[in-house]
Amino acid sequence: MAIKILLVEDSKSQLMFLKEGLEKHDFVVETSSDGAEAYRKVFEYAPDLVLSDIMMPIIDGYQLCRLLKNKDETKKIPVILLTVLDNKIDSFWGKKAGAQLFLSKNIDIDELVKQIYATVRRYPVTDEYKQVILEHNVTDNSAQSQLNIILNDLLLKSVFSNEFRNLSDFMNYERILVEKMFSLLSSFVEYTIAGVYFASPDDFSENILYIDTLGRNISKGVLSDIQYDFFRKLEDIKTVRDTKFEVVRILLGKEIDYVFNDLKSKIIIPLVFDKKLIGGICFYSRSDMDYASFRYFDIMISELLAIFKMKYQYTEKEFMSVLDGLTGLYNRRQFELGLEQEFNRTKRHPADFSMAILDIDFFKKVNDTHGHQYGDYVLKTVSDIMKACFRKTDLLYRYGGEELVMIMPETNIEGALIPVQRLRRSVEEYDFDYNGVKAKVTVSIGLTMNFQEFKSSADMLKSADESLYKAKESGRNRVIVYNE
Ligand code: GH3
Ligand code: MG
Ligand code: MG
Repeated sequence: MAIKILLVEDSKSQLMFLKEGLEKHDFVVETSSDGAEAYRKVFEYAPDLVLSDIMMPIIDGYQLCRLLKNKDETKKIPVILLTVLDNKIDSFWGKKAGAQLFLSKNIDIDELVKQIYATVRRYPVTDEYKQVILEHNVTDNSAQSQLNIILNDLLLKSVFSNEFRNLSDFMNYERILVEKMFSLLSSFVEYTIAGVYFASPDDFSENILYIDTLGRNISKGVLSDIQYDFFRKLEDIKTVRDTKFEVVRILLGKEIDYVFNDLKSKIIIPLVFDKKLIGGICFYSRSDMDYASFRYFDIMISELLAIFKMKYQYTEKEFMSVLDGLTGLYNRRQFELGLEQEFNRTKRHPADFSMAILDIDFFKKVNDTHGHQYGDYVLKTVSDIMKACFRKTDLLYRYGGEELVMIMPETNIEGALIPVQRLRRSVEEYDFDYNGVKAKVTVSIGLTMNFQEFKSSADMLKSADESLYKAKESGRNRVIVYNE
């Protein structure tokens, strides 16, 4: 059967010239002088190939190509674009629009015929497929409205992508990153509870499932059920031990105790890159939802994956290094190693050693009032004050966001209290000033030592944490000693 070509060209003389040339080679040629009409004619003739000029008024060759490639009924029809211009941008757009081939208008007819045969052989349109095209109904103006739909879609996608990419500014502030992420997710996705988890290349660090309840009060029981559910799903990929959850949006309002079984729909998405689990997200809803069919879900996931990838690589870099970039202190990994070492050493060769953990009071407020740069300045300054308060043999680390730890070898509580109190007082007395903006800051500190009762360095760390918590609870700006 003869090959049917739809030839689209706005110049009459060009159109006639090409039509005649092609008909001499036994092609059946239908013609159209603009893109909108051509779109309609595709459904009337079901051609084997569309051969189109690029520069045309109203709807041009790229747009026609896009329209065809965007529709299941027509996307298999090969498109060859013709142009007088022979520039890179043209061929770039041609390819982006989904064209199979891009030829110069100066091509001689024999070469064009050869290319058409090759293209049709590579992208054959079956009779069944043509039948579907013919059965489809289009009205005259549908090309324009289809184009509008495509444009809106593209616009939405690019806005969408941009919103997610802006998150990358907060790569080194996990809490803030998570907060922004939830606020973005909740504007796109309907959920009762959402969770975000960043896997860490560092085996030491805690696995935290950040949970957003949209400000609703949800019982701890439900939250830990979700945590269990989420990590059980992820376990197939990586054994995730020692997890905890942290509720990100502040709980407000009355207690509404959701039962886990009340949550009718869920979707748990592990994020994998380079065969490694780098994180995951989940959505739970009380109403019937088909998350996967949500219109932009796949775009959202691929944008999220990009963010998670960046975050993972960021953590990996941090993990590989020894010092923390902002404060110049040893980082968390070094701390875990240092504490373990000191703990084991003093088990073999009994000796005292103390450890303190510091957390800046109301640091969130500092950030909120003066911005993160100011927060960074405060953190760096507190670290510098700390360095000045301790002996060379003491080991100082940045434990987490705004938490610093001190290991004091050969020192009991009594001895440790001296530099630790000095540190607390020095911060209290310091006049913070950054670009003329002044602030007062205090810190809370939990202090402990290697008491006999501790079986492991983790027990010891926990005791310091507990004391820090007490220091916060009892009014902040103070040092609390474990079990005192
Ligand atoms: P509290 O007195 O109970 O400690 O109150 P807080 O506001 O300090 O609460 P919390 O310790 O939970 O908050 C820590 C906040 O510190 C979270 C995050 O916004 C901020 N933060 C963590 N790391 C950094 C950092 O490197 N730079 C800046 N600017 N802020 C950080
Ligand atoms: Mg803190
Ligand atoms: Mg704090």
